[in-house]
Amino acid sequence: MRYQRSSALYQAAQKVIPGGVNSPVRAFKAVGGTPIFVEKAKGAYLYDEDGNRLIDYISSWGPVILGHAFEPVIKAVIERAKLGTSFGMPTALETEIASLAVQMVPNIDKIRFVNSGTEACMSAIRLARGVTGREKIIKFAGCYHGHSDSFLIQAGSGAVTFGSPNSPGVTQGTAKDTLLAKYNDLESVAEIFKENENQIAAIIVEPVAGNMGCIPPKEGFLEGLRSFCDAQGTLLVFDEVMTGFRLAPGGAQEKLGVKADIITFGKVLGGGLPVGAFAAKNEIMQHLAPEGPVYQAGTLSGNPLAMAAGLAMLTELNKNPSIFSSLEAKTKTLHEGMESILLRKGMPFQINRFGSMISLHFTAEEVVDFETAALGNNDFFKKYFHGMLDEGIYLPPSAFESYFLNDALSMEDIYFTLKAFEKTINGF
Ligand SMILES: *Cc1c(COP(=O)(O)O)cnc(C)c1O
Repeated sequence: MRYQRSSALYQAAQKVIPGGVNSPVRAFKAVGGTPIFVEKAKGAYLYDEDGNRLIDYISSWGPVILGHAFEPVIKAVIERAKLGTSFGMPTALETEIASLAVQMVPNIDKIRFVNSGTEACMSAIRLARGVTGREKIIKFAGCYHGHSDSFLIQAGSGAVTFGSPNSPGVTQGTAKDTLLAKYNDLESVAEIFKENENQIAAIIVEPVAGNMGCIPPKEGFLEGLRSFCDAQGTLLVFDEVMTGFRLAPGGAQEKLGVKADIITFGKVLGGGLPVGAFAAKNEIMQHLAPEGPVYQAGTLSGNPLAMAAGLAMLTELNKNPSIFSSLEAKTKTLHEGMESILLRKGMPFQINRFGSMISLHFTAEEVVDFETAALGNNDFFKKYFHGMLDEGIYLPPSAFESYFLNDALSMEDIYFTLKAFEKTINGF
């Protein structure tokens, strides 16, 4: 494939945009090479600026679960745009999508819309702190909750230490209130609770982790978090920005049967437009301004174009829940195909899969947390990524990301992908 135009566009972009991109993972730093500039997309396919067609396994990092340029979403946005793009006043549309979300997601009475997953998680934690009157939170190494200060903290040497910021600009003062635990390790959580008795406002967790590859929760892990929270008056926040409306109509809560106190959303909820949200029962949401004292606001929150896209998306998922099983079946076919090719080749690998999320790590160790995810061989991953790209398959350009399948992918696309996979792996 040729990437001449992409290269030229990347050069031009770097002059006026830091690193040439508006979100770092797009820059291909982990895999090397030139980021591909997309011109348009339809269904399961991306068309880049050089005219290459790529089968897309990112789906905009999750949002376009029904494929690109999905007709009902596009139509809703176009129709809505003709009526004005933003008012800074309430619209009936917001109540309509809120009602549908509350109906689809278990265990919530009210939902507040924001503009991104980052904003949703940031606001959810402020709300948890406001409700409990406590300052400390627990997060898990390798879980991503957007780029607000409290979350840019990673494991130091031990899991049970005060976090140190992993980005300049995050203050020690902020970092000290974020306590780090190990994903799938209840012992690490128990120790933090013991050392900070009745001081933890919230645990925030990705119920299925998707930002260190895909890492499903071990049996009993989320239930364990639930009981710790119940015992100490801590709120359990499920960050469902990735899993919400992807694993099931009611997200991970429904799929895994564990109830959270506050749930955050993004990605699929906006159908490809910038939307985030957080939701909870009345007794928690009543603390939020203007009903209560916990402040949170947004000039473009509940934006009519974004709400129209989200409503069209949720309506489709709600009336046709077989989408979730069909997506899972496609992902399973991909999984089994990759597995048999890798076994034949005799390469060390782990494939983790949950619903329509899947990832491949080149390591013999079971991948259950950040440490084990980091054992993957990145040279293999780079070679794999570029090999697949040469065959017209667009994978996440980092081993620490999950693939997100979309329902426009046909079984033929999956088989085509597996052929490309076999060719790539045999080239190792
Ligand atoms: C993507 C993501 C976020 C951040 O959402 P943005 O819209 O990128 O700000 C937060 N949490 C999880 C689990 C995510 O996957």
